[in-house]
Amino acid sequence: MKHTRSQCACCKQVFAGTKAFDAHRVGPYTRKQRKRRCLTCKEMRLRGMTQNEQGWWLLPAHQPNTADAPDRTDRSLTA
Ligand SMILES: [Zn+2]
Repeated sequence: MKHTRSQCACCKQVFAGTKAFDAHRVGPYTRKQRKRRCLTCKEMRLRGMTQNEQGWWLLPAHQPNTADAPDRTDRSLTA
């Protein structure tokens, strides 16, 4: 799978795709409050994010909150 490279203008980290990029931005995102910030490398690691050999940040393999991951489990349904 090919990732799109997204570099953050704020922390200069490079992310493999917009989802990984979005995952490193935390805090409220309103016009009044501009408290949105980047996670530190340590915080990203704590969240399970990893870096590939190019140094791009990748999302954790397990994403319980992502609905669109085409992750087919090979568990057979026994009803
Ligand atoms: Zn950033």
